[in-house]
Amino acid sequence: MANVFGPVPSRRLGNSLGVNLVPLKTCNYSCVYCQLGKTNYFTNERKEYYPTEKIINELEYAIKNTTLNIDYITFVGDGEPTLHSGIGRIIRWIKEKTNFKVAVITNGSLLYLNEVRNDLLYADLVLPSIDAPDERKFRLINRPVMKIRYEEIIDGLKLFARNFNGKIWVEVMLMKDINDSREDIDKISKIINSIFPIPERVYINVPIRPPTEKWVTIPDKRSLMYAQEKLPNAIPINFREEGKFDVNKYTNACEAILDITEKHPLRYDQAKEIAEYFKETIDEVLKKLQKEVKFVEYDNERYLKKLKNKNENTF
Ligand code: SF4
Repeated sequence: MANVFGPVPSRRLGNSLGVNLVPLKTCNYSCVYCQLGKTNYFTNERKEYYPTEKIINELEYAIKNTTLNIDYITFVGDGEPTLHSGIGRIIRWIKEKTNFKVAVITNGSLLYLNEVRNDLLYADLVLPSIDAPDERKFRLINRPVMKIRYEEIIDGLKLFARNFNGKIWVEVMLMKDINDSREDIDKISKIINSIFPIPERVYINVPIRPPTEKWVTIPDKRSLMYAQEKLPNAIPINFREEGKFDVNKYTNACEAILDITEKHPLRYDQAKEIAEYFKETIDEVLKKLQKEVKFVEYDNERYLKKLKNKNENTF
């Protein structure tokens, strides 16, 4: 199992060399909008899900061998990265041995723990999520393990922000009729404004890729405009990621598409580009993958999604 992937194009981080620290869908949340599907390993336990040393070795290899520019080494992937107890050591290794910037995309849930705040101190950029206006909606949207309380998470984030020298970019996932009312946006804004220093950027995200729950959809323009007005340092929404996937490390299109769809649904046009890179046609590739992936329609786009079990219907 490779823990380091990419560099892949990221809407916010440019070319991002990804580091995945946990097995597929290991998380202490089961967000309604998650593009990885339902949480398989629902846990709040911090441990070495993969040996820390193995991840450092993989990183060293990837850094030496990539042909693309790297803007960030980003902790992201198949679940919540701060559940890995070696994350602090890996970040320190990157900062001591390389000149790359480090970003951590986290749900922020474990920042109430002193050890997690310390682990992230050496990162350059931390991107925590704040999707809920209050405890009730937190349970509805993020569906956390029972013992986590929203207030504690926000307090942890505030403590972290006070001692952190890097940047904090908050991510807010807005969903139609779930958390996009004026009242909810006002409350989310109040929470973000209570963090000092106020996060440098607030990204208003919308579920651009097929979410776990079918009833999750993109909010109307009016709500989005209200959010942009109300949330501090809000960044206008970018609906599509642009740029190319680095598929150099793969030997053929099937391998590349399977690996990418393991992490998130892949737009059809991006899959087609990958097939063309390997001098194959998308039809040939899809024929070979018909037992592995399926099409899903979402927001007027076609996506390829990896099948969880091979008896699911394909195309
Ligand atoms: S979106 Fe992130 S925090 Fe939410 S369930 Fe998926 S991996 Fe966990």
